Amino acid sequence: MADSNGYNEPPSADKTQPSPAEAAPADAPPAEQMHTADEGNGELTTNYNTVTETFDDMKLRSDLLRGIYAYGFEKPSAIQQRAIIPMIMGRDTIAQAQSGMGKTATFVVGILQNIDTSVKKVQALILAPTRELAQQIQKVVDALGDYMGLHSHICIGGTLVNDDIRIFQTDTPQVVVGTPGRVYDMIQRRALGTTSIKTFCLDEADEMLSRGFKEQIYDVFQFMPSTCQVGLFSATMPNDVLEMTQKFMRDPLRILVKKDELTLEGIKQFYIAVEKEEWKLETLCDLYETVTITQAIIYTNTRRKVEWLTEKLTERDFTVSSLHGDMEQKQRDLIMKEFRSGSSRVLVTTDLLARGIDVQQVSLVINYDLPTNRENYIHRIGRSGRFGRKGVAINFITNADVGPLRELEQFYNTTIEEMPMNIADLI
Ligand code: ADP
Repeated sequence: MADSNGYNEPPSADKTQPSPAEAAPADAPPAEQMHTADEGNGELTTNYNTVTETFDDMKLRSDLLRGIYAYGFEKPSAIQQRAIIPMIMGRDTIAQAQSGMGKTATFVVGILQNIDTSVKKVQALILAPTRELAQQIQKVVDALGDYMGLHSHICIGGTLVNDDIRIFQTDTPQVVVGTPGRVYDMIQRRALGTTSIKTFCLDEADEMLSRGFKEQIYDVFQFMPSTCQVGLFSATMPNDVLEMTQKFMRDPLRILVKKDELTLEGIKQFYIAVEKEEWKLETLCDLYETVTITQAIIYTNTRRKVEWLTEKLTERDFTVSSLHGDMEQKQRDLIMKEFRSGSSRVLVTTDLLARGIDVQQVSLVINYDLPTNRENYIHRIGRSGRFGRKGVAINFITNADVGPLRELEQFYNTTIEEMPMNIADLI
């Protein structure tokens, strides 16, 4: 049982990123029944901090490990390094981390490791607040479990109840992901058998309760076997979530992971002595092929220069997108969406948006202009380091930039070397 003194009072409800749960809830009750999650938003204290740094060290089954690497994960994120093992051990686990930190794969890996694929019964049940999130989770289950010969099923509103029932009868899924309403319905109709469930997992528990799913979750809980492990994942810990952990969890391990600080570790930093401002464009064009091996962000210091550079590159038939603070939000969102999806590969932008950009696949940053303040340097090229990704940064240096570059090196206690010829190999 979580002890009530074990939790701090809330400084704020720190949900910086919109969750996928912004979409309409699947089977939520009418709005007037909902209560908001902003009462008592707190942080949990950690009582378990054993770190397993690699997926290999987790001693996962080989078919699962293969699925993880095939999905493109190389190194576990902070929450994964701490919470996968407790999940595997069958412990009740509460994990608090902001969105985007890899909670989904945490419980999915924990669950998959313990699935007995020879048993054709539901062994794990995952609840999510929205249909969209449930779909995303199922995709991760299927992707990571791709080599396990596993069956999963999604159980959400908006589909035919009879279809759902038939799937439970014929397909015998081992992992079920769903929204509380439909899942409860399936349990009540005895389509979803609960006797073999080993893990019951609540994702975005705070969202779920703020959407008024409390009753349905409590109802579902009643059907879980007494030996069943409970995993609860949430970005915040409002009172109603804590209450639920106290009611339904036994001696839970509590893991809180805060957003990582930016670091320059693992980033190779280079400069190119372009000498004069006028020579930057040619230098960039020479580099263009290298740049497009991966996705790159090019920073300039002004909005006008973003526009100018975009125009010059486009004139030369280079495909680039650009983004700056004077654009309408809608347009910005669209450009970021294209860039995130990979359909555009080079983004020219200013510092204004540097802080908001968290695009994992970007492994090259070019400072066409050196930033005018030091902090922006780390915001442009630093990484949260949470997935251990590496990166390369290239700084264009005019004669006037030589001094400021050395100051940056000193300030960050780092080295910025002249760019070698084999740069393409480093990206
Ligand atoms: P959360 O559930 O905490 O909001 P997600 O599980 O959705 O976070 O993960 C956010 C993003 O990070 C997803 O695109 C996911 O594929 C990616 N991701 C998660 N874990 C890793 C990892 N170990 N290595 C690389 N990418 C990861």
